[in-house]
Amino acid sequence: MNVKKRWIFLGTIVILFGILSIPEMVHTNEGATVSEGSVRSGKLRNGWLMPFKGDNFHYFDRFSYYILNNAYVNSRVYKTLTDAYKTCETTCPGKEFILMECTRRKGGRMLFHWTHQNGTSVDFMVPTIRTDHKQTWTTRWGLLHYLLQFNQDGQLAINHKTQIDFETMARHILALDDAARQNGLKIHKILFNTNMQDELYSTSSGKELQRREIRIISHLSDLVNMFHDDHYHVDFDIE
Ligand SMILES: [Zn+2]
Repeated sequence: MNVKKRWIFLGTIVILFGILSIPEMVHTNEGATVSEGSVRSGKLRNGWLMPFKGDNFHYFDRFSYYILNNAYVNSRVYKTLTDAYKTCETTCPGKEFILMECTRRKGGRMLFHWTHQNGTSVDFMVPTIRTDHKQTWTTRWGLLHYLLQFNQDGQLAINHKTQIDFETMARHILALDDAARQNGLKIHKILFNTNMQDELYSTSSGKELQRREIRIISHLSDLVNMFHDDHYHVDFDIE
């Protein structure tokens, strides 16, 4: 490809991405949402779009957000998520949280997910710390983050210096539980790798998760378990 053709090709890609991003750039959140059907077979009407970035959180991948349109949720889930992040500004000062895939603009089937169809399922990236206090880089992998593997002690398989911050994760789940109740929702269930649940429950906030009987599924198939080590999946019930 000569230089001119290469520029035309690149320009076309940029214009195409710009056009495909228009729904997210012009979207306004207003009115109530209807979540139809179930997380496995459902639709989303008037879904609300999560902000790409907030004071202490951001969405993990531009392609997923703008091109795949995967950051929509039920309006009450929106309020629950943003209220919980607000709480975490106090309970987890200085921590940056990362939101992963939610639901497509109108719901329905999504690539690589069995559920997430009606705006009530959300994936959250596990918060991590570095034992050597250097900057963690795993947050910049975008969609590839789903492929990262953590061992049963919560250490990143390819670099044990990066470890899951279980206390911060538990505090975030507690904030979600509080915010869900305030917005007329309930945490229906959480999927998180069963080999690491002891680590989560051994933290002081993890003990509170147990006391509140927040439903973190303790038996998962090998395949589901394998995919829920780098993130935790939360389904909300609309009461
Ligand atoms: Zn999920």
